[in-house]
Amino acid sequence: MTRSFDAIICGAGITGVSAAHYLARAGLTNILLLDERPPLSFTSDRSTECYRNWWPDRAMLALMNRSIDLMEDLANESGNVFRMNRRGYLYVTAEESKVPALIERSKLTSNLGAGPLRVHTAERSSYQPAHADGFADEPAGADLLLGSTFIQKHFPYLNQDAVAALHARRAGWLSAQQLGMYLLETARRLGVRFESERVTEVDVANGRVNGVTLRTGEFVTSPIFIAAPGPFLKEVGGMLGLDLPIYTELHLRAAIKDSLGVVPRHAPLLIWDDAQFLPWQADERAALASDQEAHWLTEKFPAGVHTRPEGSGENQTILILWDFKTRVVDPLWPPTFDEQYPEIALRGLSTMLPRMKEYFAKMPRPQLDGGCYTRTRENRPLIGPLSIAGAYIIGAVSGYGIMSACGAGDLLAAHITGKSLPAYALTFELSRYENPEYLREIETMEDSGQL
Ligand SMILES: Cc1cc2nc3c(=O)[nH]c(=O)nc-3n(C[C@H](O)[C@H](O)[C@H](O)COP(=O)(O)OP(=O)(O)OC[C@H]3O[C@@H](n4cnc5c(N)ncnc54)[C@H](O)[C@@H]3O)c2cc1C
Repeated sequence: MTRSFDAIICGAGITGVSAAHYLARAGLTNILLLDERPPLSFTSDRSTECYRNWWPDRAMLALMNRSIDLMEDLANESGNVFRMNRRGYLYVTAEESKVPALIERSKLTSNLGAGPLRVHTAERSSYQPAHADGFADEPAGADLLLGSTFIQKHFPYLNQDAVAALHARRAGWLSAQQLGMYLLETARRLGVRFESERVTEVDVANGRVNGVTLRTGEFVTSPIFIAAPGPFLKEVGGMLGLDLPIYTELHLRAAIKDSLGVVPRHAPLLIWDDAQFLPWQADERAALASDQEAHWLTEKFPAGVHTRPEGSGENQTILILWDFKTRVVDPLWPPTFDEQYPEIALRGLSTMLPRMKEYFAKMPRPQLDGGCYTRTRENRPLIGPLSIAGAYIIGAVSGYGIMSACGAGDLLAAHITGKSLPAYALTFELSRYENPEYLREIETMEDSGQL
């Protein structure tokens, strides 16, 4: 007998799981959630697990605020099983000339709805450091700390040349596995069924979704098909006859044991916001400069190397990330990882955290992994209906899929159940690319559209 469901979701990463959760909460419970891998084991298992509402884009900011509201609700109802903290993101610069622009940009983000901006100096300060754990009673918005002595007072481990540090406060990190498992288990209790299966075909008849074929050859009927396959969005879009405007980039992360305790265990996410040259000894630099293949290591590297402490208690692990050489790749697995990445990232990090140099003589053994950002040109996600009746998409969530998951699942559930949609809904629909004005707007976006 042919099995029948009210909705089928392809992909049980954090986005598919969240879609299942919020649909089930909205009353649609006869859902089949399919993944050829164990739930939450692909890209969603390789992130930095950080979140922030500090976005320079009105729609993205509103989505993240909603997502964080929902994560707070889940944390409150579950006793914070996914250990969400609110340590914030600290963006640090040593370039005095950048400070006026930083203040202007921060005011803009604040005015878009991220919360108030407070400016502090040694002479005039009401700055409250973040608590290490939990998220209650933390300020919203951002604090801008000006002056190196004042920054050193609160963050003595940073480079003494740092002249400004922007502390975004509705931000921090959590356990993405625990959040995902909580979303999944709650959905299952409400009736959602998970199966380890691959979707090989989507059946469309008369412009409507009819059902899917599984790897086993079984045909399962459903009037609703939700594509949540992460980096395989192009392939699954193809099953619907669509060429989705997305591409995938490989992003790496390294974990090392910080046995010297350079990054305090209570630190926020630390981001060096200046471009830089890697620190080398004079003889090392000369040797690299004269080597055609290694010459690039003496050239200017982009801003953005970042780190955070990982784990609790006696754990000494830190995560280090730096997108200095992003590659557009097909989502083949496993990808080839650049073995030089951990050392380069550690050297870059030493510009922000000078004591990292103590590791140069003997690099701690790194753990290197990563995954694909699935993204659109302008780095906004795809959430909502497709041109085929009953087909929906939730994905292209780039480097923010964990933080946006709850907001995205909630938005997709509103589309499907006919609930009223928030103002930002249209900005994330695929149909936005049918608007010539939108296409012109995104073509002129700087920095390849990174928001
Ligand atoms: C290095 C790195 C750091 C990151 N840091 C952060 C961060 O700090 N904060 C943040 O918010 N985000 C971060 N991200 C991004 C985040 O991890 C992703 O956006 C998110 O995990 C994407 O989730 P997903 O559910 O869309 O995809 P995935 O987790 O990849 O899940 C997709 C699932 O679909 C399944 N699938 C595909 N095709 C089929 C098919 N035909 N049939 C059945 N199943 C199928 C796959 O097996 C997979 O399990 C980071 C990512 C990387 C790589």
